[in-house]
Amino acid sequence: MKRWLLLALGIACSIAAAYGAMQLATYSWNQVVEYRSPFVDLDTERFTGARPALSSPVPGATQRRTVVVLIDGLTDEASRQMKTLQALRASGADVRLTAPQPSLSYPCWTTAFSGAPPQISGVTTNWYEGRVKVETLFDVAAGSGRRLAVSGPDDLDSLFGVSELTSATALVPWDEGEYRSGRIVDAALELARTKDPGFLVVLLPDVDDAGHAEGGASQRYAETAARVDADLGRLVQALDDGQTVFAVFPDHGHTPEGGHGGWEEPVVRTFAVFAGPGVRHAATDARLEDVAPTVAVLSGLQAPRLARGMAIEDVLSDGNGRARDADFVRASGFALAYAREVAGPPALAGLESFKSRSELERLMARAQALRLASDRRSRVPQALALAVAALGVLAVVGLASWRALVASLSGALAYNALFYSLYFGVHGYRWSLSTFNEESQVQAFFNARMAEAVFAALVACAVAGLVYLALRAEPKGVRQGHAAGWLALGVATVLTIQAVIGVQVAWFLWQWGASCVWRLPDLFWGFKYDVDLLQATALGAAAVLGPAVTYAIGRWHPRARGAEAHG
Ligand SMILES: [Zn+2]
Repeated sequence: MKRWLLLALGIACSIAAAYGAMQLATYSWNQVVEYRSPFVDLDTERFTGARPALSSPVPGATQRRTVVVLIDGLTDEASRQMKTLQALRASGADVRLTAPQPSLSYPCWTTAFSGAPPQISGVTTNWYEGRVKVETLFDVAAGSGRRLAVSGPDDLDSLFGVSELTSATALVPWDEGEYRSGRIVDAALELARTKDPGFLVVLLPDVDDAGHAEGGASQRYAETAARVDADLGRLVQALDDGQTVFAVFPDHGHTPEGGHGGWEEPVVRTFAVFAGPGVRHAATDARLEDVAPTVAVLSGLQAPRLARGMAIEDVLSDGNGRARDADFVRASGFALAYAREVAGPPALAGLESFKSRSELERLMARAQALRLASDRRSRVPQALALAVAALGVLAVVGLASWRALVASLSGALAYNALFYSLYFGVHGYRWSLSTFNEESQVQAFFNARMAEAVFAALVACAVAGLVYLALRAEPKGVRQGHAAGWLALGVATVLTIQAVIGVQVAWFLWQWGASCVWRLPDLFWGFKYDVDLLQATALGAAAVLGPAVTYAIGRWHPRARGAEAHG
């Protein structure tokens, strides 16, 4: 009777753990998707004084015509095969960029046009709805009275409200399927001819489509890049009058097999090319968030208010009047306000003045480190409680029977070997958002991982049953009154697998926490954490099915039956 009760209790525990894991997975996923940045209302002028009105020109700055071209999903490698881009590179600045994570289009477009990475802008996925809450180059150009023109997908309207900022827009639906860059460039040239814009933004979507369809290493991708290059060539040729600044860059790259969102080199190590007056011939490194301030300084505009990046020194041949200084003052105000928001007044202790960009970076990095350390201290109890509960499960199994513990641990080992052979070996997945080539694949991916978790757990139960048999000289079969014991072995195995996952989840909760209050978690470990929680959820089903596997071994395995015959 007691054994049956324990069995029922074990199943209940496993299902409860599964339910908890499911709730936590949903909560954590939504925390990233629906992240509400505390920084969009940051008072960046508190420390450095109010910024002059956009309508008053930056003192001494040359107002240069500017052409910004974002080529969605273009890898650095492919860009170096493109004739027009290579010619611009040769005459201007060749910048190796790092894109932020998640390296998805909306977050990266927003970073490129505002200088605010996802942590600041709050744009963390392509599911973002409504207009972004940070100032962009569109706002700055229009607010400064520059004639703004925009040609590209209509997402530019939903995200940045470009049609409210200018009457000079040519927008096409994103998902038309066919090649659009030719028409987008035609429209841009038409706008340039009829509206004479001082600030022209063009977004070319086709390379990204080719990447999703066949991968960054595919023939189609290379051909599409070449075709886009030819269209870019028409744009540059028509508009290059020696007085025009060009800035060309992607939002992110693509993996060779197609996809982005994660941390892979070809995805996050991208490029920017700047050419024209005010550009120094140079090769340097920077981040995507530095692009908008750099464009602003070259163009003679104020930089967007919440840019976390700064104008790239090596790209500028001069300060363009006070434009570079204005950006430094703005960036100082941002860094101080950011550090104070993140870590409170202690973050600003001992500060006098700033002379360089690296000092600003150090200030922000120190504030982040302070906050992260204090967050981690506060999360120790909850993480420890979970780890202790997980290890407690192993203790209970071990106290009931050391053989059952050894068998369950062997099962857990088999589970991990099988699950990860499938995950990494058979499917070739990584702990990366790039694993989903398209958003529509997310649910199917999760479902398939859960099915594999159940399958691996049932195999683990079989392994546990065999190990248990091997540990007894005279195994006792289910017919000798050991039915409950054999059933319980299946539950113990599943609980052990969940406990091992529980310890890993506890580590993540200590490191990054489940909620996103002021930053996103490291998305490599965040992805693993999500996959862990999905497994723990699916294992609730294995706790019901697994006992049948161990029971069958106790009932029909020759060794167990042999013992019965003798007994
Ligand atoms: Zn894409």
